[in-house]
Amino acid sequence: MRDTFCQRFGENETPIQTYFAPGRVNLIGEHIDYNGGLVMPMAIEQGIKAYVRPSTEPVFRMQTLQSDGELLLDWTMPNFEKRKAAWQNYPLGVIDLLMRNNWQWSGGLEILLESTLPIGSGLSSSAAIEVLTSYILLDQAADERIKDRIQIAKWCQEVENEFVGVKCGIMDQFAVAMGQEGQAMLLACDTLAYQYVPFSPPNYTLLLLNTNKERKLADSKYNERKASCEQALAQLQMAYPQLEHLCAASPDAWKELSDHVLQRRTRHVISEQQRVVAAKGALANGDWHFFGNLMTASHRSLQHDYEVTGKELDAVVNAALEEESCLGARMTGAGFGGCAIALVRSENEQAFIEQVSNKYQAATGLNLSVLASRKAGAGVGLL
Ligand code: ADP
Ligand code: MG
Repeated sequence: MRDTFCQRFGENETPIQTYFAPGRVNLIGEHIDYNGGLVMPMAIEQGIKAYVRPSTEPVFRMQTLQSDGELLLDWTMPNFEKRKAAWQNYPLGVIDLLMRNNWQWSGGLEILLESTLPIGSGLSSSAAIEVLTSYILLDQAADERIKDRIQIAKWCQEVENEFVGVKCGIMDQFAVAMGQEGQAMLLACDTLAYQYVPFSPPNYTLLLLNTNKERKLADSKYNERKASCEQALAQLQMAYPQLEHLCAASPDAWKELSDHVLQRRTRHVISEQQRVVAAKGALANGDWHFFGNLMTASHRSLQHDYEVTGKELDAVVNAALEEESCLGARMTGAGFGGCAIALVRSENEQAFIEQVSNKYQAATGLNLSVLASRKAGAGVGLL
């Protein structure tokens, strides 16, 4: 990697440091982080590496092996206008926000990114690039606030909401910043109370099934779903002024909404919340069959009530569930393409991948890419 780095940024003696931020899967609790719900994400082994070399010039330079161009910023007169190359706006937004929060450093940086994470596939490469950039900047400037990983997650969410323009909840950035090896997390998105829960199913592997379907509509539909939830909450609050968010509504509250679409959206939110609580119990009891059933029920609710799955995610989940070796499967992330996850008996992994890939290809004409997450990954850090 040193050679590639030096080809791009030139040769010198300054050591190159390596940082890493993982991607994440959400095991269960989908589309409820922005409804104040309890979710269960987990950092994965795959992620983005950053090769970082400080320099004396007051210039920030970032390139990525995944895309062309360079994000160039002169510290002495930084230009925070949005860039044409979409990827550059994630790190740019982070720098802008940190500077507005009194982050200061006079030295320069040369950074090369390399990802083992499929990009734009629902494994949260966007949160990874945001959290990675924040962590590098705070570390290089010896800024004390690096210890406050929850603050880092909040800043990065703000960047994605305001600078990039995707109204995501806190879950992705939280999982990337706070991940711990071998552990999934239970995160209450209203209070940010959290706990770690061991996730290492004996004899089963969590497979990440990438549909390779571009999530073209994902961002606009995401914001649309979020607006529907706000509308449903506002209606319910007329009857229940104390109701703080949609996940806190009673199990049948959706029936009180006037509109059929809002009813189904809300039924997903409320039932998904119940499934997360049940999943916590399943993990505590080591009941992996029940955990798998909850994953599948979550997918069906996202398919029929929340309508964020689409043909490809449904095809891959249906094919996965036809395999006897599969305990459960569901889409993960925003939906409309991207990845599904499946819990599969480890000894049947190869046969599973073959069968599901063939069926998926026959149903959609697309190739399936499969990654395994053999253990939960650690959060962002210096390697
Ligand atoms: P997801 O977060 O599910 O991967 P998003 O659409 O939210 O999908 O974010 C993907 C975007 O993040 C990419 O289109 C790109 O702009 C940016 N990105 C993520 N990782 C990298 C990387 N290693 N190099 C360049 N850009 C990246
Ligand atoms: Mg993202």
